[in-house]
Amino acid sequence: MDQPSSGQLLSVIVPCYNEQEVIATTHKRLSGVLKLIGMRYEIIYVDDGSSDQTESILRNLQKNDPTHVRLILFARNFGHQMAVSAGIDHAAGDAVVLIDADLQDPPEVIEHMLARWREGYQVAYGQRTDRQGESIFKLWTAKLFYRMLNTMSEIPMPLDTGDFRLMDRSVVDALKAMPERDRYIRGMVTWTGFKQIAVPYKRAARAAGESKYPLRKMIRFAVVGMLSFSRAPLHMVSTLGFGCAALSFVAIIYALAMRLFTEQWISGWTLLFIAVVFFGGIQLICLGIVGEYVGRIYAEVKRRPIYLVRECVGFQHAAGRSDVHRGVVKESVDVIAER
Ligand code: UDP
Ligand code: MG
Repeated sequence: MDQPSSGQLLSVIVPCYNEQEVIATTHKRLSGVLKLIGMRYEIIYVDDGSSDQTESILRNLQKNDPTHVRLILFARNFGHQMAVSAGIDHAAGDAVVLIDADLQDPPEVIEHMLARWREGYQVAYGQRTDRQGESIFKLWTAKLFYRMLNTMSEIPMPLDTGDFRLMDRSVVDALKAMPERDRYIRGMVTWTGFKQIAVPYKRAARAAGESKYPLRKMIRFAVVGMLSFSRAPLHMVSTLGFGCAALSFVAIIYALAMRLFTEQWISGWTLLFIAVVFFGGIQLICLGIVGEYVGRIYAEVKRRPIYLVRECVGFQHAAGRSDVHRGVVKESVDVIAER
């Protein structure tokens, strides 16, 4: 089916990292859904430095459907959030959808999101009512994390919500203006404050392949979320400091009183030993928390590009907002430098 030549454009961003087992199936199902919707669309696949056949499969998909498919190939693996950011920077759509490559987010939900967008909501985010095929451990840690973040964060964060969402152009432009390196996109979208609505859906099991988020990456991502949207750990450090100082002040008075007014002053070293170890531990933890923030400041001031593009394919077909791609795609090595 030819795409309608005018009307609003929908961009769908799909980050892919070693997704050779699933990406062709994903493309088929996603294209099917988008064709049924009947809006003009583009699908932007961002290959996040895959080391398997993902790139060649994507190139084939692009060759077979050059009107709709665009590719951004990264120089190396920069991570999921960077891949999504690159897609956002290159998307031309009036509405932009973020969706995972593994069919855990059902493409059929996009239609419901579009309906919300047409009602005037600028963000329609997928909220998981059910998650299939995930370990109990992942379910519980994810649940706990979203609740903790919501309590600690300075802005209310939607619960059980990933990056699967539809955003209006105004939100996308706001995101493009946010230069930080530590990217927790779902939080950044909430921070913009545009009108948002939840679209409940059942998160399916991965269609094929394995999760690219091992525990180590999950923890790092959770830390990024916590530290980018909350100063609660820093407040905790100072509160703890004050608490300890108050406690030791009481202890000093007690020790002095015992020494001056009684015969039984504190002998032995147990108390001393416990105090030294305890406070030493607390100090190290506090130093660590402060260090996490300082490390992040260091990364921010270096102002390195957040991702490097090796090649862009198919953007000459980009229809619609013709100004968007200018100056970005003309060379095969494309550095998004001034962010
Ligand atoms: N992904 C990516 N770069 C990475 C890790 C993951 O682009 O370094 C992509 C991956 O291909 C998938 C999405 O991010 O489309 C979510 O990853 P995954 O499904 O492995 O995470 P999970 O659903 O298990 O949390
Ligand atoms: Mg997944």
